This record gives sequence, structure tokens and C-alpha cells, in this order.
Amino acid sequence: MKDKPEKKNNEKLYYGILILVIILSIITVATVFIIQSQEKSEDKEIAYTDLIQKVVAGEVEKVEMKVGSTSVKVKLKGMAEGEEKTTIVPNTQAFIELIQEETVKGNEIELIQNPASAFLSVFNALVSLLPTIMIVILFVLIFKMQGLGDKGKIYGGEENLDTGVTFKDVAGLDEEKAELMEVVDFLKTPEKFQKMGAKIPRGILLYGKPGTGKTLIAKAIAGEAGVPFISMSGSEFIEMFAGLGASRVRKLFDKAKKISPCIVFIDEIDAIGSRRTSTSGGESENNQTLNQLLVEMDGFESTETVIVLAATNRPEMLDKALLRPGRFDRQITIAAPDLNGREAILKTHAKGKKFSNDINLKEIAGDTAGFTGAELANILNEAAIIATIKGHKEIQKVDLEDAVKKVTVGLEKHNRVVSEKDKKLTAYHEAGHAIVSKFLPTQQDVKEVSIIPRGVAGGYTMYKTNEDKYYISKTEMKEKLIALLGGRAAEKIALDDISTGASNDIEVATEIAKDMVTVYGMSDIIGPIALKPKETYEQSIFGDNIDAAIGAEVKNLIDNAYKSAQEILLAHMDKLHAVASKLLEKEMISAEEFNQFFN
Ligand code: ADP
Ligand code: ZN
Repeated sequence: MKDKPEKKNNEKLYYGILILVIILSIITVATVFIIQSQEKSEDKEIAYTDLIQKVVAGEVEKVEMKVGSTSVKVKLKGMAEGEEKTTIVPNTQAFIELIQEETVKGNEIELIQNPASAFLSVFNALVSLLPTIMIVILFVLIFKMQGLGDKGKIYGGEENLDTGVTFKDVAGLDEEKAELMEVVDFLKTPEKFQKMGAKIPRGILLYGKPGTGKTLIAKAIAGEAGVPFISMSGSEFIEMFAGLGASRVRKLFDKAKKISPCIVFIDEIDAIGSRRTSTSGGESENNQTLNQLLVEMDGFESTETVIVLAATNRPEMLDKALLRPGRFDRQITIAAPDLNGREAILKTHAKGKKFSNDINLKEIAGDTAGFTGAELANILNEAAIIATIKGHKEIQKVDLEDAVKKVTVGLEKHNRVVSEKDKKLTAYHEAGHAIVSKFLPTQQDVKEVSIIPRGVAGGYTMYKTNEDKYYISKTEMKEKLIALLGGRAAEKIALDDISTGASNDIEVATEIAKDMVTVYGMSDIIGPIALKPKETYEQSIFGDNIDAAIGAEVKNLIDNAYKSAQEILLAHMDKLHAVASKLLEKEMISAEEFNQFFN
């Protein structure tokens, strides 16, 4: 979640100036053109060749010219006083020589050579130089803008002495904060540590999925220590021209050294720091960038108090070279918040919002296991928006519940027209999930079943969340697969047809089954061997046969789960029809209504 207001403003300013210059150029060019064409259109003008003939023929009385100007005033014999004609003389020197020759011959022509007025000569010079000046200004501006875009991206408009964020703004994460407090101390009083001969880590890697507050905590370190925070995102390099990535890294670190002590934050470092493998175009570009990063990490003087924090949610992708001593040798995992953490985050983001008395943030924290800080912040914000739209004076419980649903399942789609056939299909699908879960001991209780479309889903089954778990057993994972396939199984059994509505269930189930086999070693045939993610860095040391074995095991898990789901439903067909009809009638049923079918 990054906003870059400064950069935007600067860009606007430069675009404004650019447009102004272009307009000015057009006006000037137009003016010069008009003046010239006006001069030309004077009917008092005579052609240069005519003038020469007239000079030779002795018809010219007086010639008046200005230094630096090709426009010559001519008075022909017999013309009244003050009357004159003009001619544009391409070669004034040759013309003067001609007149002098004629004068020598006895053809008397008065030649007046006026020194150009200071103003006029400056003006003339300016006018003739104008196009060049404009072009130069344009080029300078274009270069400046490129340079600005450059800086804007690297420093992300986030370079400010005071990030405005301190540890107070980071809820939960107490152990992480305690660990990072050491870094704050170091940034504040590096001498103290240097005197003791202590080495402070140069680079710290923050592991954690998006929205867990990695950027926030990095900013808070800068805020606590009162040092500047400069940042860059690894993903920006993916879109970059060859060779630029490395130079960006160099510039970023040059800047950091200049303003040290400071914090450098590299978001999504996996985009540049992924394992160096093949030598295809994009990869070798990444290699250059990564190499530059390594060079910079190694090149710090011990007096430079620059601490580099980097964030990733794919630690297994990182090149091992990044993790060597003196580089990112310290790693901190930022996990999704636990119950207390969630309550603390909700409290932090509840500040400045009005809630009705029946709202208990602890309860919301209990309902949102697995949610990240960003999602929790989002829920409260959505709740405030929903309450505003509904015209409530304060955020009410229904608003908050709506917000949770909106963030988890998507927005309710009131306007979507759903055919009776689709409704029936959805009703059986969701009833299938709910009933199958009911008969699986490890699965959570049903909280709400609905066939009102939300987001991309035609309906949903919500489960209650219990306390946070750190470990999940094999039995629980197998039963999760059964619950996920309960929707598809119900469609097949009740309507003897299957639909695309189960695609997400199938995707999730497949992922879980794959993890069971390749990450958690839960397959009896494969055994406790970690196989994921081999595709990123090395050929499988187990040979090709293992792939076939994994595939067979994954298929086996899924097939068994699908069979189990069908068995449960076939044993409780009466319940399946009853719940589905109730859903068709009411569109949404609560936990109580659902449980009544089982009393
Ligand atoms: P990440 O960098 O891990 O993707 P961010 O630091 O950008 O996540 O977090 C996004 C937003 O989520 C923050 O700006 C903040 O509003 C909220 N947030 C995340 N974690 C916390 C937390 N521990 N305390 C308070 N707010 C948080
Ligand atoms: Zn489903």
C-alpha cells in the first residue's frame, strides 16, 4: 500500500512547464511567420533582380540598409519624399559592392548604412536563435523528466526524514519489534556499538505474505530512529530496460550513503534476487541487478550507518548469495497476526471511527483467523464506507459483518439475474459443502450458507473460525479436501450433472493435495521428502519417476476425498434436499437454521 503523492505533483509540474514551453514555441513561430509574411505582402516591394536592373539602369536614388538586416529600403528616382520600396537582399555584401562599383562609374546612388539599433540587433539575434533555444529547453525538460521518473521510482516519493510511522502504529508483532529495537538503537547511536566492536547486521530480510506489515515495520524503524527512509520495489525491475536495473540499484545506494544514517527498504526482493539459473535475456538482466545489489551490500564502509531491509513472501526463491554474512544475514518472519494481534490491529485502525455499543472487536478478531493486518484495516474501512452509504450514525454490527463478507467473498451482487436452474444448482452445491462438513469431526461449524451471488461466487458457505492453529494434522487436511469437494459431489448426486461453479474448490483442493505430498511428506508412497519448489532451482535429484509418483498420489488423495463426499451425501439425501429447498426459499440460512435439520 504505497501512495506516491510527491512524485505525482512533481510530474504534474513538469508536464505543465512542458506544455507551456510548447505553447510559447508555437506562438513565437507563428508571430515570426506572420511578421515575415506581412513584410512580404507589402506591395511596395520590388524583387532583388528588378532592383539590380534598376541600379544598373541608374533609376535608383537612395539605398538605405541596416547592418545585420537583409531588408533594404530603396528610393527610386522620381519618387516623392518619404516614399520608398523595400527589397530583400540575400547577399548584402555583394549588393554594397555593386552600388560602390556603380558609383565609381558615375551612377550616383546615395548609400546609407545604419548601424542596427542595440535593441533590434538583440531582438533579431533572439528571433533567429529562438527555435534553437526552444529545442534546447525541450530537451533539458525531457531529460529532467526522465531523471525525475527515475528518482520518483527509486525513492518512491517515500523519502522523508520523518516517515510519520513509529512502533506505536505497528500493532501486535511485539517480539519482532523488540528484535528490531536493536536496529533503532544502532541508527541512533552507532558510536556506542562501534566502540564496543559490535557488528550490526547490514541487511535484514523480512519474510511474510503481503499485507502482514513488513513495509510498515520498516518505516517504523526509520521513524523511531528519526532517520530517512528510502525505498524501491523489486518488481519495478521486471519492466525495466536492459542495464537499467543495476544502475538503479547503484543510484539508490549512492543516495543512501549520502544521507546516512538511513533505512533502505527493498520490497519484493525476490523479483531481483531470485536464484541465478539460466542465461536467457530477462534472467541475465536480473543477474546484473542482483550482482549490483551484492556489490553494494559488500561495499559499505563500517562508518556508513545504512541498514537495508528487504521484504519477500517467497524466501525459498532467493539466491543463497544474498543470505551470506554481511549481506541479508538476519531473517525475521512476519506471520499473519494471532488472535491478540488481530485485536490489537483492529483497535489501532478503529481509532477515529465511531462504533455502536454492540460491537466487540475481540469477537471480530475471533472471526478473522488468518487475516493479515492489511485485510483487517480494509475491513474496518469498508465497514465505515458501508455505514456511511446506509446513512448510519455510527458503524453498526451489520455493517461490520457485511464488510467482512465483502473482503472475504466479495461484494453482494443484487442486480445479477440468476436463473432458477442456476439457483437450484448453487443451492445443492452449497448445501453439499455444509452437510459434508457437518459430518467431518475436524471441520469447523457452519456459520452461514447463502446462494446470494457475491463477487465471482454464486453462493458461499461460511464457517466459524476457532482459535488459531499452528499445526494441521493429516486427518484434518484430508477432511478439508472432502469438504471442498462436497459442492461438486452434491451437484452430481442431486442433479446428475456437474458445473463450472466448483472450479475454485477444485483449485484449492488440488493445491492442498500437492502440498500434502510435496511439502508435508504426508504421502505413504513418497515418504517424508520435501520436493517443492524444485522447478525454480534444480533438477529433481529423484529423477523423472518421482513426478509420475507425485501425480498419482495427488490424484489418489483427490479421488478418495470425492468418493468420501459422495458417500456422506448419499447417506443423508433427505438432509441434502431439505437444506437445498430451504436455501431456495430463503436464499440465506443461519447456523441455527442449518443445525435444526440435524436435531
Ligand atoms: P506488507 O509490506 O507486508 O505487504 P504493509 O506494511 O504494506 O504490508 O501493510 C499494509 C497496511 O496494512 C499497513 O499500511 C497498515 O495499515 C496495515 N497493517 C498491516 N500490519 C499491521 C500491523 N501490525 N499494525 C497495524 N496496521 C497494520
Ligand atoms: Zn464450492
